[in-house]
Amino acid sequence: MRKVLVTGSAGFIGFHLSQLLLEEGFAVVGFDGMTDYYDVRLKERRHQMLLQNQHFSAHVGMLEDLDSLRSLALAERPNVIVHLAAQAGVRYSLENPRAYIEANIVGTFNVMECARELAIEHLLMASTSSVYGANEVMPFDELERVETQMTLYAATKKANESMGHSYAHLWNLPTTMFRFFTVYGPWGRPDMALFKFTEGILTGNEIDIYNNGEMYRDFTYVTDLVRAIRLLIDVPPVRPTCADEIVEGDSLSPVAPYRIVNIGNGDKVKLLDYVEAIERECGREAVRNYLPMQKGDVPATWANTDLLNRITGYKPHTGYREGIRQFVAWYRDYYGR
Ligand code: NAD
Repeated sequence: MRKVLVTGSAGFIGFHLSQLLLEEGFAVVGFDGMTDYYDVRLKERRHQMLLQNQHFSAHVGMLEDLDSLRSLALAERPNVIVHLAAQAGVRYSLENPRAYIEANIVGTFNVMECARELAIEHLLMASTSSVYGANEVMPFDELERVETQMTLYAATKKANESMGHSYAHLWNLPTTMFRFFTVYGPWGRPDMALFKFTEGILTGNEIDIYNNGEMYRDFTYVTDLVRAIRLLIDVPPVRPTCADEIVEGDSLSPVAPYRIVNIGNGDKVKLLDYVEAIERECGREAVRNYLPMQKGDVPATWANTDLLNRITGYKPHTGYREGIRQFVAWYRDYYGR
């Protein structure tokens, strides 16, 4: 049985990915620090659900604690590591920047060290669309220059991409970096817009809409996203022997088994259309509090997903109205509202 170590397994994406991998017959070793960035009970519930499968094991530990991570990795000897644990959130990085350095820089370094020591078949790690920063030409594609990160969160993820490349090169460690675009769906994060909007609408509280609603996002439904990750697990990058081997449009490094892949829906949705769809699902209108653009935020994201499609044959497809329907149904059931 193939075994995958998933860091951040009690997190939103890690939970969904672990569920999918278990369904597909993998053994999953979950590792998560259960940090209190948002409601820990949600993380505990996710782990509890996963533990119903005998091929899942849950381990609580911090990425920064190399000993705990390393002893787990050496005892379990996974074939693959999917590194999702991180201090996430664009806005919180203005309040508590140090958490990003610790979890995302030191923590990711520790994961890479374990992957190197075990000579892992494939290391896959989460980056973000935020690395595109102030780039304006849309849709964003993996080959463009990304030099204008707007927050420390984005900067730590860009650093992770460089760190990953160096280890892939030095230790011949096949490494795929994902750039995720605004992921949403059931069991989603309480700090993200869909959760806050749904909560506000159902409780009659004001919802904050930034940049007066002139915002666009490529919203990616979590089930599609984890399907893409699962497929990418089977496509470890291979170091090319010469530059001619690299197909046009592929982000494969010329000197390392290393590739960056966007995972987005490939569509750009206006925030106000998204809000309207949530109102429709909730059967109530929102009390809207229009605000200026937030520091560090970007007005739009939109993924070119051609590379994902070319490598895996897969294209995320769930429309935002359907995804919102699933989320609101989960939210109402979970919180009894
Ligand atoms: P999440 O916060 O729900 O999950 C992250 C998990 O990591 C949490 O359960 C948390 O307890 C754990 N964690 C945080 N710091 C840790 C540490 N120092 N040691 C051990 N565990 C720690 O977030 P998510 O939305 O599931 O995001 C997963 C990954 O995807 C992250 O790397 C995030 O940066 C990236 N990402 C997410 C989105 C999105 O829209 N959700 C977009 C782009 C990138």
